[in-house]
Amino acid sequence: MTHPIPQLLQGLYDEQQYAKQQHYMRANRRVSSLKRGVEVVVTLVLLAAGVYGRYDNWCKSCFDTGIVELLVFFFGCQLFIEILSIPFSYYSTFNVEQRYGFNKTTAATFWLDCVKEFLVEYVMTAIVMCGIFLLFQWLGSSFWIWATCFLTAIIVIVNLFYSSVVVPLFNKQTPLEAGILRQAIEQAAARMQFKIKNIYVINGSKRSTKANAYFTGFGPKKRIVLYDTLIEQLSTDEIVAVLAHEIGHYKHHDTLIGMVRAIAMVAAYLWVFSLVVSSPELPAALGGTAPSFALSILAFSMLLTPIEIALNPVANILSRRAEYKADAFAARHGLGAALVSGLKKLSVNTMSNLTPHPLVVWFNYSHPTLYQRILAINKIQK
Ligand SMILES: [Zn+2]
Repeated sequence: MTHPIPQLLQGLYDEQQYAKQQHYMRANRRVSSLKRGVEVVVTLVLLAAGVYGRYDNWCKSCFDTGIVELLVFFFGCQLFIEILSIPFSYYSTFNVEQRYGFNKTTAATFWLDCVKEFLVEYVMTAIVMCGIFLLFQWLGSSFWIWATCFLTAIIVIVNLFYSSVVVPLFNKQTPLEAGILRQAIEQAAARMQFKIKNIYVINGSKRSTKANAYFTGFGPKKRIVLYDTLIEQLSTDEIVAVLAHEIGHYKHHDTLIGMVRAIAMVAAYLWVFSLVVSSPELPAALGGTAPSFALSILAFSMLLTPIEIALNPVANILSRRAEYKADAFAARHGLGAALVSGLKKLSVNTMSNLTPHPLVVWFNYSHPTLYQRILAINKIQK
């Protein structure tokens, strides 16, 4: 964080604002480190005390059918994780974000969000767990092939209906009104041979001043979503450039590639799980005393965590490559300069780190840094 700011990025902040930005990043990091530390300690205590096994035994003694037991087991686990995380998100929202002027969330919205997020997550977990469990009961260890098909269907359905079913639970979306901005977007999209009818504005300002834009769905369901805060803070040219970047993603089939990759990972995980699903070691590791599908799948997902961390850099390298390509798409359509100024505004708007360590970028960043992106865009423009 304390590295000197490269020449290319100078002038984004004055000295006082930059000091504030540095404080903000430190405050954020303290909260997330503390949260992770608490999570590790709590997990170790739960494992050492065999709490999962005891809880599973209790579920078994109360409910005869496997499916109800499974649903109750995961309800309890998820509720516990939610309750554990609430103090941190409360502090982060009403202390850190508030102090630095980002927060717009009211206490009522915050608590309602907690309940709604919990329910959406639980419904998804319940559908996935029940599906896998029933296929396992029905087909034995070859369940993984059908379970992959089942999860593929879920991934596709979520992609198609996320913006029309899940987003309205949290935000209001309205079609972008006819006017200068809509006209500019439609003209640019036509130049890029991109058909788009659904352009929506979302009331992101309900929770935060931070701005964003994204693309969702595919085929006739595809839609561009602009945060109202983005429209407030960026000029028309800059918004068009940000959208050109998103259109670039679409043209390069990045959403589809991401989905195929996710499905391949799911298939691999399920196949490995099918090899060990009946092993008594899995439930025993969580303190279980009898075979248990719930404990087995939970233990297996815990064992996956280090593998996922090891795969993280690979996923991020691929993601950053796609980001460079989407930036290049916008630059080739004459929007490089507008994209650079838009990205600069967004960076200042979120007070993001201007000088992250290269190793952290390599490991953790799904997007190249602002500096890297500007360098690459400038190269294309020359
Ligand atoms: Zn992108």
